[in-house]
Amino acid sequence: MNPNENAPIVLIVDDMPFNVKVLRETLKRDYRIEVAINGAEALERARGEPQPDLILLDVMMPEMDGYEVCRRLKDDPLPVSIPVIFVTAKDDEAAEEQGFELGGVDYITKPFSLAVVKMRVRTHIQLKRQTDTLERLAYIDPLTGIPNRRQFMETLEREYQRALREDSALSVLMIDVDHFKAYNDHYGHGTGDDCLREVALALLRGLFRPGDQIARYGGEEFVAVLPRTDREAAALLAERLSQCVLDLQRPHARSSTSDRVTVSIGGATTSLHAEARSLEALLSRADQMLYRAKEGGRNRSLVADMDERLGM
Ligand code: GH3
Ligand code: MG
Ligand code: MG
Repeated sequence: MNPNENAPIVLIVDDMPFNVKVLRETLKRDYRIEVAINGAEALERARGEPQPDLILLDVMMPEMDGYEVCRRLKDDPLPVSIPVIFVTAKDDEAAEEQGFELGGVDYITKPFSLAVVKMRVRTHIQLKRQTDTLERLAYIDPLTGIPNRRQFMETLEREYQRALREDSALSVLMIDVDHFKAYNDHYGHGTGDDCLREVALALLRGLFRPGDQIARYGGEEFVAVLPRTDREAAALLAERLSQCVLDLQRPHARSSTSDRVTVSIGGATTSLHAEARSLEALLSRADQMLYRAKEGGRNRSLVADMDERLGM
């Protein structure tokens, strides 16, 4: 029986065909097995997609030994979280200790019992899957299913550093549902939640570049991070996002702005201007622009460049 296409992937790294064969036979019923016959191949595969769920790593290999492979895996942001089990004929304590120190999760010495290998692999795969699930949940807003504030802040920080490095423009938009307190009061909190879910989907639909991200910032406020996007492009996108929400045609009987649900959007774009180079300043400028959009009558968007004088 072959495992299904969602079965966890186990990467076996060993230079001896016989060892590979034994491990493969033991595990192939439950896992998708991939093989690397030296350290370089293992590193390349571990950085690739889909990511292996577990690595069985032989210690003694020519050129690059298993310890070195593990060291490099743990130095790399992508494969760092893949659990590594060392498999080796070295059964002295110091060698074992070294394996754990390098970040291995387990250490199996040859000759091993195949039943025990199976159990250990199963345990570590289960742990890895649980960790992955928790990690995913920690970055997702449960109401709307889109990225939460935490994920947004990490993305923004990363993109901000990149923008500085590349000297490229970076824009953020803050998107706030208009008169949402009145909406809740009139339609009830459950319908309010539905509305937020729909707005999130509408905003997602409005994005078209893969690097752009929409997140729920909190309450009825959303944010977008737009890498390599200048003020003009961000202003166009903001208009488009407003329109996407309007197109939902979701009635809002208590809005003094429109008979439908609307949003106000404030945005800011980084510039080469030295004093504007802070993330906090960027966010706070976007927030100011949101405030102005609200003051200006709602259902509108305003995006500023960081080097514009606002005269506030
Ligand atoms: P404005 O047009 O100035 O933005 O007014 P507003 O009423 O939208 O703003 P305000 O900040 O006064 O009210 C926000 C409301 O959003 C209050 C709160 O009950 C509601 N809200 C925040 N989070 C949620 C949520 O998760 N679900 C629901 N249903 N309502 C929420
Ligand atoms: Mg609001
Ligand atoms: Mg608000």
